[in-house]
Amino acid sequence: MQRLTGIGVSPGIVCGRAVILIQRAQVLRYQTTAPARLDRELGRLETSRVRAREQLLEIRARVARRRGPDVASLFDAQLLMLDDPMLVPRAAQIVREQRVNAEWAVQQVFDEFSADFDEVADPYLRERKGDVADLVGRLMMNLRQRVTTPRELLSEVDEASVLIADELTPSLAAQVDWTRVRGFATDAGSRTYHTAILARSLELPAVVGLHNASALIRPGQLVVIDGAANEVIIDPDEEVLARVARSAVDHQPAAEAESERHRPAVTADGVRIHLEANIEFPDDLAAARYAGAEGIGLYRSEFLLAGETGAVGEDEQYEIYRAMLQGMAPGAVTVRTFDVDEDQLAHRSPLAGGWMADEQRGSRQGLRGLRLSLTRPELFQVQLRALLRAARHGTLRIMFPFVSGVEELREARRMVGEASAELERRGERVPRVPVGVMIEIPAAAYTADLLAREVDFFTIGTNDLIQYCLAVDRADERVSRLYEPLHPAILRMILMVRRAATRRRIPVSLCGEMASDPAILTLLVGLRLTDFSMTPGAIAVAKQVLGEVRTEDLQALARRILRLPTAAEIEHELMAALGGLTLTRE
Ligand code: PEP
Ligand code: MG
Repeated sequence: MQRLTGIGVSPGIVCGRAVILIQRAQVLRYQTTAPARLDRELGRLETSRVRAREQLLEIRARVARRRGPDVASLFDAQLLMLDDPMLVPRAAQIVREQRVNAEWAVQQVFDEFSADFDEVADPYLRERKGDVADLVGRLMMNLRQRVTTPRELLSEVDEASVLIADELTPSLAAQVDWTRVRGFATDAGSRTYHTAILARSLELPAVVGLHNASALIRPGQLVVIDGAANEVIIDPDEEVLARVARSAVDHQPAAEAESERHRPAVTADGVRIHLEANIEFPDDLAAARYAGAEGIGLYRSEFLLAGETGAVGEDEQYEIYRAMLQGMAPGAVTVRTFDVDEDQLAHRSPLAGGWMADEQRGSRQGLRGLRLSLTRPELFQVQLRALLRAARHGTLRIMFPFVSGVEELREARRMVGEASAELERRGERVPRVPVGVMIEIPAAAYTADLLAREVDFFTIGTNDLIQYCLAVDRADERVSRLYEPLHPAILRMILMVRRAATRRRIPVSLCGEMASDPAILTLLVGLRLTDFSMTPGAIAVAKQVLGEVRTEDLQALARRILRLPTAAEIEHELMAALGGLTLTRE
């Protein structure tokens, strides 16, 4: 038995088998005890290796055609590494010995490789670490092809578990299937406001600030989480187990009643807040509906291009959009036109990788989103025609990504007109569809007053806005701590855009990840935003938190915060205010 002391942020005592979630590498580590599961993990590993080989051969051939054999030979190193016994066979050995899932084994192999490479003095060899990282990323991507989210991974776990994470960000928390989790503990101790709110809303015991619990605890180990005693107990003895059993409070998360999930979001003083969902695959619609989303605020349509063939035909796209509109009726569906860059369009398959696609998407600049669509009118017209045809079947809104100014918008609107004219020539009736833009480039934020005159709505995309405003690549670990949603510049930009929309009386919503953080959400409501779109899993907690706050308090909080000079001071003020506003239910 071993005791770890941290900060209890939500009371109650529970016991369960540990599942480890490493946010840094976005890897979930769990034990696969049944022999059939073990075989399946080994099979997944092998399939991912075979696919990686096919992909690399294809890329090498394509590069050879375009750039010549010399450049193409760069991929030979990766092909050789793929057969190295220290890579896939070593991962298989870890799966067998530690009885863990394939993703975790691959991550561990990479950590071993990295440690070895870091000790090598030869700069040429050190550079090869990039190749290994690339290859490991590819194996991970292939492993995730079928299982993409912690929710799906958790559903593989045999019994209700306790979740041990290095850090639990709101976006990750929103992907976890909390019905299978009895309690959780995290290494991170600072910035815990969202974790605390989350734990209390879910009524799960939680302890944070444990420093190295995710490294100390093995997957499958029996762990007790005691929120009131600020403790995590590994391998508890009989006495502790008896205490858990005696615990009067049943902390099994109660499945929320249908009516509860579907009740509208209203603040304590009666202000209605609209919560919609961000989705990536048409199938996610069911999750969005289940979560009580009032509509789809962001459908990332570029995921249609993912996979082997890519759903790019007009009829094919029409069917998908139609089904979504009908499935969400009477709620609206906001379809964002393809947001990819040239590489992603050419390769397609990286788009299928979920998390990896996000990182790749985030790090590109230049020819992407609407700009790319404008240079590929044939592709763009097909998408616009499919959308306009589907519009008859529900409430559609078309949204353009990565807009930097009025010129691009006008050009895009002209293209919508062209698509419409073509459909009318074919004898189709085309309804009027609201057209809006994502405000995710600082230039768009600064010209929001001008853009507002020519669009039907705005959606603020803070994921990109933050990285372009603060000049921080969201995928580059070395600067990612500077990726700060609470930076005064970000809050001012959001306010500027909200004001521009209010003046022109057009709707404005916010769909970046920061809306999934219940603490930041309250601040955004203080900035008088009332429409949000977020990961479906974040909606229930958002409703609960909103129900406990008064807008006048939040507006006063926002006024104080807008005068503060640093993100740290803003965070401190927000946490202090939330202590009084929302954490009063003990
Ligand atoms: C954003 O940029 O805030 C956004 C929602 O879009 P994505 O994360 O898909 O770039
Ligand atoms: Mg974006």
